[in-house]
Amino acid sequence: MKRTIICLLLVLAISIGAISFANAYTAVYPYSWNKNSLTCYFNADILSNYGTQISNYVRIGVMAWNNTDAPSISVGTLGSSDISVDMDNYGYTGWDGYNNTNYSPSNIINYSITYLNTCYLSGYLSEYNLWRAIACHETGHALGLNHYILAPSETEEDSIMKSNTIEYYNVSGTTKIYAPCTPDISAINAKY
Ligand SMILES: [Zn+2]
Repeated sequence: MKRTIICLLLVLAISIGAISFANAYTAVYPYSWNKNSLTCYFNADILSNYGTQISNYVRIGVMAWNNTDAPSISVGTLGSSDISVDMDNYGYTGWDGYNNTNYSPSNIINYSITYLNTCYLSGYLSEYNLWRAIACHETGHALGLNHYILAPSETEEDSIMKSNTIEYYNVSGTTKIYAPCTPDISAINAKY
């Protein structure tokens, strides 16, 4: 009996693997927004602590999803917005950006909070497109996207949803992506 169960699990794992890793793609979470337009509150501290340029580029990074089928995002006010974006030096947390999306048991998103951490990249505060990129990545999570997945044998594609910041925006390299790419747009358009 035990042997049968092990064999069944193995077959299941192999078939899931075959389906999931056939191509490079951006994975999705099961939850989504159930409305066509969203508001986003940008913490006023972003402007006062980091200046006009970063503030503008962070907003552009969030709004980059407006070129897809995702719910449209417009600027909202404190306390009544669907999404909020905060930016601060949160210390050595292990992340440059973090998104906390709250959803109901039926997988409808209630609200989403994004944190941009300047700790590791404090020397790049004037690299405005970097903050635009991280804001865009975290907003992908806020809309229900998971990370980009690639099998070792498959061809690499650009994606704003790669797990690590350096994979989509390398401050000392040539990879500088700050908007949704083909696999990200395919995933979000399939969802909405
Ligand atoms: Zn992420």
